[in-house]
Amino acid sequence: MRVSAAEDAPIAIVGAMHEELAALLAAMPDEQAETVAGRQFWRGHLEGRPVVVVLSRIGKVAAATTAAVLLARYGVRAVLFTGVAGGLGDGVAVGDVVVARELLQHDMDASPLFPRHEVPLTGIARFAADAALADAVAAATQEVLAALPTHLPAEVQAEFALTQARLHRGLIVSGDRFVATAAESAALRADLPDALAVEMEGAAVAQVCHDWGVPFAAVRTISDRADDAAHADFGRFVARVASPFSAAIVRRALARL
Ligand code: SAH
Repeated sequence: MRVSAAEDAPIAIVGAMHEELAALLAAMPDEQAETVAGRQFWRGHLEGRPVVVVLSRIGKVAAATTAAVLLARYGVRAVLFTGVAGGLGDGVAVGDVVVARELLQHDMDASPLFPRHEVPLTGIARFAADAALADAVAAATQEVLAALPTHLPAEVQAEFALTQARLHRGLIVSGDRFVATAAESAALRADLPDALAVEMEGAAVAQVCHDWGVPFAAVRTISDRADDAAHADFGRFVARVASPFSAAIVRRALARL
Protein backbone atom coordinates (compact mmCIF):
# COMPACT_ATOMS: atom_id res chain seq x y z
CA MET A 1 0.00 0.00 0.00
CA ARG A 2 1.26 3.46 -0.85
CA VAL A 3 1.78 5.29 2.41
CA SER A 4 0.37 8.77 1.96
CA ALA A 5 0.78 10.02 5.52
CA ALA A 6 2.60 9.11 8.67
CA GLU A 7 2.72 5.38 9.44
CA ASP A 8 0.82 6.03 12.63
CA ALA A 9 -2.06 7.82 10.90
CA PRO A 10 -5.25 5.80 11.35
CA ILE A 11 -6.86 3.58 8.74
CA ALA A 12 -10.57 4.27 8.20
CA ILE A 13 -13.07 1.41 8.26
CA VAL A 14 -16.40 2.52 6.81
CA GLY A 15 -19.73 0.66 6.70
CA ALA A 16 -23.19 1.67 5.51
CA MET A 17 -25.21 -0.14 8.14
CA HIS A 18 -24.90 -0.57 11.86
CA GLU A 19 -25.10 -4.37 11.82
CA GLU A 20 -22.07 -4.51 9.55
CA LEU A 21 -19.88 -2.69 12.03
CA ALA A 22 -21.27 -4.01 15.30
CA ALA A 23 -18.90 -6.94 15.46
CA LEU A 24 -15.89 -4.72 14.71
CA LEU A 25 -16.73 -2.22 17.41
CA ALA A 26 -17.11 -5.10 19.84
CA ALA A 27 -13.50 -6.10 19.08
CA MET A 28 -12.05 -2.62 19.74
CA PRO A 29 -10.68 -2.49 23.27
CA ASP A 30 -10.39 1.29 23.54
CA GLU A 31 -13.01 2.79 21.27
CA GLN A 32 -14.04 6.39 21.80
CA ALA A 33 -16.77 8.09 19.81
CA GLU A 34 -16.84 11.64 18.55
CA THR A 35 -19.85 13.04 16.68
CA VAL A 36 -19.18 15.03 13.51
CA ALA A 37 -21.85 15.90 10.93
CA GLY A 38 -24.30 13.74 12.86
CA ARG A 39 -22.13 10.62 12.52
CA GLN A 40 -20.23 8.83 15.24
CA PHE A 41 -16.52 8.38 14.43
CA TRP A 42 -15.07 5.63 16.63
CA ARG A 43 -11.35 6.00 17.27
CA GLY A 44 -9.37 3.11 18.70
CA HIS A 45 -7.27 0.12 17.73
CA LEU A 46 -7.89 -3.13 15.88
CA GLU A 47 -5.12 -5.72 15.57
CA GLY A 48 -2.84 -3.11 17.14
CA ARG A 49 -3.45 -0.63 14.28
CA PRO A 50 -4.94 2.81 14.90
CA VAL A 51 -8.34 2.95 13.19
CA VAL A 52 -11.36 5.21 12.82
CA VAL A 53 -14.58 3.24 12.36
CA VAL A 54 -17.68 5.01 11.10
CA LEU A 55 -21.16 4.34 9.80
CA SER A 56 -21.51 6.28 6.55
CA ARG A 57 -25.26 5.81 6.26
CA ILE A 58 -26.76 4.79 2.95
CA GLY A 59 -26.23 6.35 -0.48
CA LYS A 60 -23.52 8.20 -2.40
CA VAL A 61 -23.87 11.62 -0.77
CA ALA A 62 -23.85 10.18 2.75
CA ALA A 63 -20.80 8.11 1.87
CA ALA A 64 -18.94 11.02 0.24
CA THR A 65 -19.63 13.30 3.21
CA THR A 66 -18.27 10.67 5.56
CA ALA A 67 -15.17 10.14 3.44
CA ALA A 68 -14.46 13.88 3.32
CA VAL A 69 -14.60 14.11 7.12
CA LEU A 70 -12.30 11.09 7.48
CA LEU A 71 -9.74 12.62 5.13
CA ALA A 72 -9.89 16.26 6.21
CA ARG A 73 -10.38 15.88 9.95
CA TYR A 74 -8.84 12.53 10.84
CA GLY A 75 -6.03 12.48 8.25
CA VAL A 76 -6.54 8.77 7.61
CA ARG A 77 -3.86 7.08 5.49
CA ALA A 78 -6.26 4.64 3.81
CA VAL A 79 -9.99 3.96 3.59
CA LEU A 80 -11.56 0.50 3.55
CA PHE A 81 -15.28 0.20 2.87
CA THR A 82 -17.03 -2.95 4.08
CA GLY A 83 -20.64 -3.88 3.52
CA VAL A 84 -23.14 -5.86 1.50
CA ALA A 85 -24.11 -5.69 -2.16
CA GLY A 86 -26.39 -7.24 -4.74
CA GLY A 87 -24.75 -9.79 -7.06
CA LEU A 88 -24.85 -8.96 -10.78
CA GLY A 89 -22.15 -11.07 -12.42
CA ASP A 90 -22.75 -14.67 -13.49
CA GLY A 91 -21.99 -16.94 -10.58
CA VAL A 92 -21.81 -14.13 -8.00
CA ALA A 93 -24.03 -15.79 -5.41
CA VAL A 94 -25.46 -14.85 -2.01
CA GLY A 95 -22.69 -15.36 0.55
CA ASP A 96 -19.89 -14.77 -1.96
CA VAL A 97 -17.52 -11.86 -1.32
CA VAL A 98 -16.46 -9.27 -3.92
CA VAL A 99 -13.27 -7.21 -3.57
CA ALA A 100 -13.26 -4.22 -5.94
CA ARG A 101 -10.55 -3.60 -8.52
CA GLU A 102 -12.54 -0.68 -9.96
CA LEU A 103 -15.67 1.26 -8.97
CA LEU A 104 -18.11 3.16 -11.18
CA GLN A 105 -21.24 5.24 -10.54
CA HIS A 106 -23.88 3.50 -12.65
CA ASP A 107 -26.32 6.42 -12.35
CA MET A 108 -23.81 9.10 -13.45
CA ASP A 109 -24.85 10.33 -16.89
CA ALA A 110 -23.91 13.78 -18.17
CA SER A 111 -24.08 12.64 -21.81
CA PRO A 112 -23.85 13.99 -24.41
CA LEU A 113 -21.60 16.55 -22.72
CA PHE A 114 -19.42 13.80 -21.27
CA PRO A 115 -19.25 10.07 -21.97
CA ARG A 116 -21.84 8.09 -20.03
CA HIS A 117 -20.65 7.15 -16.49
CA GLU A 118 -17.73 9.56 -16.62
CA VAL A 119 -17.55 11.92 -13.64
CA PRO A 120 -17.54 15.35 -15.30
CA LEU A 121 -14.19 17.18 -15.31
CA THR A 122 -12.26 14.22 -13.95
CA GLY A 123 -12.05 12.22 -17.18
CA ILE A 124 -12.71 9.12 -15.09
CA ALA A 125 -15.58 6.65 -15.12
CA ARG A 126 -13.85 3.80 -13.32
CA PHE A 127 -11.98 4.68 -10.14
CA ALA A 128 -9.25 2.15 -9.35
CA ALA A 129 -8.96 0.58 -5.93
CA ASP A 130 -5.46 0.64 -4.43
CA ALA A 131 -3.90 -2.60 -5.65
CA ALA A 132 -1.87 -3.43 -2.54
CA LEU A 133 -4.72 -2.66 -0.12
CA ALA A 134 -7.17 -4.65 -2.26
CA ASP A 135 -4.70 -7.56 -2.41
CA ALA A 136 -4.46 -7.59 1.40
CA VAL A 137 -8.26 -7.59 1.68
CA ALA A 138 -8.58 -10.35 -0.92
CA ALA A 139 -6.03 -12.51 0.89
CA ALA A 140 -7.89 -11.93 4.15
CA THR A 141 -11.16 -12.88 2.45
CA GLN A 142 -9.66 -16.12 1.14
CA GLU A 143 -8.59 -17.03 4.67
CA VAL A 144 -12.05 -16.37 6.07
CA LEU A 145 -13.86 -18.28 3.31
CA ALA A 146 -11.48 -21.22 3.68
CA ALA A 147 -12.39 -21.47 7.36
CA LEU A 148 -16.13 -20.83 7.07
CA PRO A 149 -17.20 -23.04 10.00
CA THR A 150 -15.06 -21.01 12.40
CA HIS A 151 -16.94 -17.84 11.43
CA LEU A 152 -20.51 -19.07 10.99
CA PRO A 153 -22.49 -21.64 12.98
CA ALA A 154 -23.61 -24.67 10.93
CA GLU A 155 -27.27 -23.66 11.09
CA VAL A 156 -26.51 -20.21 9.59
CA GLN A 157 -24.48 -21.81 6.78
CA ALA A 158 -27.38 -24.18 6.11
CA GLU A 159 -30.04 -21.45 6.24
CA PHE A 160 -28.29 -19.40 3.54
CA ALA A 161 -26.76 -22.40 1.67
CA LEU A 162 -23.25 -21.01 2.12
CA THR A 163 -21.07 -24.07 1.65
CA GLN A 164 -19.51 -22.81 -1.62
CA ALA A 165 -18.90 -19.14 -0.80
CA ARG A 166 -16.30 -17.73 -3.22
CA LEU A 167 -14.15 -14.61 -3.67
CA HIS A 168 -14.56 -12.49 -6.83
CA ARG A 169 -12.48 -9.49 -7.87
CA GLY A 170 -13.42 -6.82 -10.39
CA LEU A 171 -15.89 -4.01 -11.03
CA ILE A 172 -18.35 -2.86 -8.36
CA VAL A 173 -20.98 -0.32 -9.42
CA SER A 174 -22.72 2.16 -7.13
CA GLY A 175 -25.86 4.28 -7.44
CA ASP A 176 -28.63 5.85 -5.41
CA ARG A 177 -31.05 2.96 -5.92
CA PHE A 178 -31.63 -0.30 -4.11
CA VAL A 179 -31.75 -2.57 -7.14
CA ALA A 180 -34.61 -4.92 -6.40
CA THR A 181 -36.16 -6.02 -9.69
CA ALA A 182 -34.96 -8.54 -12.25
CA ALA A 183 -35.60 -5.96 -14.99
CA GLU A 184 -33.35 -3.34 -13.44
CA SER A 185 -30.65 -5.85 -12.72
CA ALA A 186 -30.79 -7.07 -16.35
CA ALA A 187 -30.51 -3.48 -17.59
CA LEU A 188 -27.41 -2.91 -15.45
CA ARG A 189 -25.82 -6.12 -16.71
CA ALA A 190 -26.53 -5.09 -20.31
CA ASP A 191 -24.95 -1.65 -19.77
CA LEU A 192 -21.99 -2.90 -17.73
CA PRO A 193 -21.36 -6.55 -18.60
CA ASP A 194 -18.31 -6.86 -16.37
CA ALA A 195 -20.02 -5.51 -13.22
CA LEU A 196 -19.84 -8.09 -10.44
CA ALA A 197 -21.97 -6.35 -7.81
CA VAL A 198 -24.15 -3.30 -7.19
CA GLU A 199 -24.35 -1.19 -4.05
CA MET A 200 -24.96 2.42 -3.05
CA GLU A 201 -21.72 3.93 -1.68
CA GLY A 202 -18.41 2.51 -2.89
CA ALA A 203 -17.77 4.52 -6.06
CA ALA A 204 -18.57 7.76 -4.23
CA VAL A 205 -15.94 7.05 -1.56
CA ALA A 206 -13.51 6.00 -4.31
CA GLN A 207 -13.96 9.38 -6.01
CA VAL A 208 -13.34 11.33 -2.80
CA CYS A 209 -10.24 9.26 -1.99
CA HIS A 210 -9.00 9.82 -5.54
CA ASP A 211 -9.29 13.60 -5.04
CA TRP A 212 -7.25 13.35 -1.82
CA GLY A 213 -4.76 10.86 -3.26
CA VAL A 214 -5.43 8.38 -0.45
CA PRO A 215 -5.60 4.60 -1.03
CA PHE A 216 -9.07 3.06 -1.06
CA ALA A 217 -10.45 -0.48 -1.17
CA ALA A 218 -13.91 -2.00 -0.88
CA VAL A 219 -15.13 -5.44 0.14
CA ARG A 220 -18.76 -6.50 -0.13
CA THR A 221 -20.55 -9.66 0.95
CA ILE A 222 -23.32 -10.53 -1.50
CA SER A 223 -26.64 -10.25 0.35
CA ASP A 224 -29.00 -10.66 -2.62
CA ARG A 225 -29.05 -11.01 -6.41
CA ALA A 226 -30.47 -7.49 -7.02
CA ASP A 227 -33.69 -9.09 -8.31
CA ASP A 228 -37.32 -9.37 -7.22
CA ALA A 229 -36.30 -11.39 -4.15
CA ALA A 230 -33.61 -8.88 -3.10
CA HIS A 231 -35.45 -7.64 -0.02
CA ALA A 232 -36.17 -11.12 1.38
CA ASP A 233 -34.17 -11.97 4.51
CA PHE A 234 -31.97 -8.90 3.90
CA GLY A 235 -31.84 -7.77 7.53
CA ARG A 236 -31.35 -11.28 8.79
CA PHE A 237 -28.54 -11.94 6.33
CA VAL A 238 -26.74 -8.74 7.31
CA ALA A 239 -26.92 -9.57 11.00
CA ARG A 240 -26.12 -13.28 10.79
CA VAL A 241 -23.62 -13.47 7.91
CA ALA A 242 -22.36 -10.09 6.68
CA SER A 243 -21.54 -8.74 10.12
CA PRO A 244 -19.27 -11.62 11.20
CA PHE A 245 -17.73 -11.77 7.68
CA SER A 246 -16.97 -8.04 7.74
CA ALA A 247 -15.33 -8.20 11.13
CA ALA A 248 -13.22 -11.25 10.31
CA ILE A 249 -12.09 -9.94 6.90
CA VAL A 250 -11.25 -6.45 8.16
CA ARG A 251 -9.27 -7.76 11.13
CA ARG A 252 -7.25 -10.15 8.98
CA ALA A 253 -6.64 -7.45 6.39
CA LEU A 254 -5.42 -4.99 9.04
CA ALA A 255 -3.06 -7.60 10.42
CA ARG A 256 -1.46 -7.77 6.93
CA LEU A 257 -0.87 -4.03 6.53
N1 SAH B 1 -33.72 -2.54 3.94
C1 SAH B 1 -32.45 -1.97 4.27
C2 SAH B 1 -32.08 -1.11 3.12
C3 SAH B 1 -30.63 -0.97 2.99
S1 SAH B 1 -30.20 -0.30 1.45
C4 SAH B 1 -32.55 -1.23 5.55
O1 SAH B 1 -33.63 -1.16 6.09
O2 SAH B 1 -31.55 -0.75 6.10
C5 SAH B 1 -29.05 -1.47 0.93
C6 SAH B 1 -27.66 -1.33 1.47
O3 SAH B 1 -26.94 -2.48 1.10
C7 SAH B 1 -26.91 -0.18 0.85
O4 SAH B 1 -26.00 0.35 1.78
C8 SAH B 1 -26.20 -0.81 -0.37
O5 SAH B 1 -24.86 -0.39 -0.48
C9 SAH B 1 -26.24 -2.31 -0.12
N2 SAH B 1 -26.97 -3.15 -1.08
C10 SAH B 1 -27.23 -4.45 -0.87
N3 SAH B 1 -27.94 -4.97 -1.88
C11 SAH B 1 -28.15 -3.97 -2.77
C12 SAH B 1 -28.86 -3.90 -4.01
N4 SAH B 1 -29.51 -4.96 -4.52
N5 SAH B 1 -28.90 -2.70 -4.65
C13 SAH B 1 -28.28 -1.62 -4.12
N6 SAH B 1 -27.62 -1.65 -2.95
C14 SAH B 1 -27.53 -2.80 -2.26
